[in-house]
Amino acid sequence: MGRTCFIALGANLGDAVATVNAAIIVLRQLPGARFVAASSLYRTAPVGLRHQPDFINAVVAVDAVSPAPTLLDDLFDIEARFGRSRSVKDAPRTLDLDLLLFGDEASDDPRLTLPHPRLHERAFVLAPLAEIAPELVIPGRGTVHELLARCADQRIEKLVPQTV
Ligand code: AMP
Repeated sequence: MGRTCFIALGANLGDAVATVNAAIIVLRQLPGARFVAASSLYRTAPVGLRHQPDFINAVVAVDAVSPAPTLLDDLFDIEARFGRSRSVKDAPRTLDLDLLLFGDEASDDPRLTLPHPRLHERAFVLAPLAEIAPELVIPGRGTVHELLARCADQRIEKLVPQTV
């Protein structure tokens, strides 16, 4: 049994719904982790740089056996596979993966800050997280559903899965 980890996905270039769905399939098969749950997809307004397409966001939970830096390296590899190029902060991206929480580990390292430093103030993370772990406590901040209630001004829409 590993540590329960939460990973945030975001995309706003190309077919972002297809990208996030494909990335969830890759995360289900992560080496060194057992898949636990995936949220629905959400369409959300960009934060920071405003004049760019809406984002598609989701959150995945896994039980990780590998240490946190290994998991982060795996996430970087997946981003690269989906064609992510790093430009300016908050710019449009093919696929962005963030490690939100790694069990109860805390870290101030700029390469891997845990819990993720902006998780508690972003509806695009908290809404999908609330779907799979509403009572989860973000240390020093409160439960996910309490934090989400404070982000009511942020535009976010749950997508209904398309059945063909
Ligand atoms: P971004 O371009 O916004 O995805 O930021 C990526 C940078 O944030 C990389 O240099 C990571 O090493 C760093 N980083 C720090 N903490 C985390 C975290 N919890 N999850 C993902 N990236 C992180």
